[in-house]
Amino acid sequence: MQKTYELLSDVPTQLFINGHWVDADGGETEDVINPATGEVIAKVAKGGAVEAERAIRAAQKAFPIWSSMDVDDRAGILRKIADLIIEKADDLAKIMTLEQGKPVAQAKGEILAGAESVRWYAEEMRRIYGETVPGPNGQIFLVQKEPLGVVGAITPWNFPSSMITRKISPALAAGNTVVLKPSPETPLSATSLMAIFQEAGLPDGAVNLVTGDAPAIGKALTSSDVVRKITFTGSTAVGKLLFGQSAETLKKVSLELGGHAPFIVFDDAPIDTVISELVAAKFRNNGQVCTSPNRIFIHHSILNEFTEKLVSAVKQVKVGNGLMDGVDTGPLIREDAIEKIDKQIADAVEKGANLKTGGKRLTDGAFADGYFYAPTVLAGVTNKMRIYYEETFGPVIPVISFKDDDEVIAMANDTVYGLASYFYTGDLKRIAQVSRSLQYGMVGVNSNAVAYPQAPFGGVKHSGFGRENGHQGIDDYVNIKFINLKYNI
Ligand code: NAP
Repeated sequence: MQKTYELLSDVPTQLFINGHWVDADGGETEDVINPATGEVIAKVAKGGAVEAERAIRAAQKAFPIWSSMDVDDRAGILRKIADLIIEKADDLAKIMTLEQGKPVAQAKGEILAGAESVRWYAEEMRRIYGETVPGPNGQIFLVQKEPLGVVGAITPWNFPSSMITRKISPALAAGNTVVLKPSPETPLSATSLMAIFQEAGLPDGAVNLVTGDAPAIGKALTSSDVVRKITFTGSTAVGKLLFGQSAETLKKVSLELGGHAPFIVFDDAPIDTVISELVAAKFRNNGQVCTSPNRIFIHHSILNEFTEKLVSAVKQVKVGNGLMDGVDTGPLIREDAIEKIDKQIADAVEKGANLKTGGKRLTDGAFADGYFYAPTVLAGVTNKMRIYYEETFGPVIPVISFKDDDEVIAMANDTVYGLASYFYTGDLKRIAQVSRSLQYGMVGVNSNAVAYPQAPFGGVKHSGFGRENGHQGIDDYVNIKFINLKYNI
């Protein structure tokens, strides 16, 4: 483990502006905490509005250089970035585990998924097709896609690497330049990526990073007329704030916000298979995932068998420091995450839910200084309980009984969120009807996964708008220009 900590000495901790590593103007720093141990593992520069404005100017200066570079050369730089991420994946994964907590194997999976997304957009950038449309009087109408200019990107801590690559790769692919504000909990994954961008030969200023005072940096980005787009992943509350702040300068906005995914198990589903898919999905990143199954609807005829088997499976989930071998799930990110889960569970139990396992913070031995929580199953959950409507973002499985298809569709849609949803059945007619009826941006049918580089990721309702991944991911980073072309004058 000592060797892992030594990796930190090579990780940049400054702001990255115009191709240079710089301190915040006042020399201020913020602590980065290991959530498994409570230790301060680094001090990272704490910038604000002034540094953000400097980064915006650097991105503005780099825009004509990057956007006019030959597309093959730009694609080559993106491919090099992907190659370097893959080459350094083991170290990047350990750095992520130190600041975020997830098990190293999951961190490495995230890093490699991020590399895949960069590689995918390195190819897709050569397919940013326009159109020609026949016009009257021998005119030809050209429809072209052009980059927007400077993009402001704000990212969360739960996927500290792939949320960045998922935004930056389509933005760069379309020819934009970027100012990134990552989460203060996980800045080291972000600075490590900046170092890779630099090594891959990205021109100075094409991507800039400002860590620090979120409201000040957010205001600088949203109020700037130079910044033509805000792309944000995080909570619905902050997404709404940034959307409002962006109105004055009429910029494009993409919001990937909270979720409250239903996970529906019909009576014909294979119980053992579904339980292993549910446990894998729920305890991935300790439930701190916007697409995590959050409300588990079980057909009443299989409820008892399902719940009993689920509880035994959950009791096998191994909690621990993500750096240790054999750990399935790590700590939560912060103290307030524990408080939120405790409150949801206390409220549910008070209103009649049955705590089958877990339901408490883990504090013994190696757990003493971290933010660990016992994997939890709550049975008998109803719509009178907070957990039915609030995103949990933790290792809790609330089990809810249903009687028929119409009832469960109504229950699943009874939320302000609309990001991911899942259901399990072998009945084709039901698959067609339920997938059509779920008011969600993404539906997993007999599958617990919805994030792939080639498929559009995003939500509806209060889960936001805009799509990441897929060829649709480029559309959020381009303007459409119409050129009326007449060959004869
Ligand atoms: P958060 O509190 O909204 O923070 C996200 C980012 O926004 C952080 O970098 C944060 O910085 C920044 N921020 C906060 N206030 C700001 C402001 N006034 N101006 C500019 N930036 C501001 O969310 P989180 O707790 O990090 O992430 C968890 C949430 O993200 C969950 O709701 C989850 O569902 C959602 N999420 C959604 C997706 C998706 O694709 N739909 C993916 C992952 C996560 P500070 O921490 O410094 O405030």
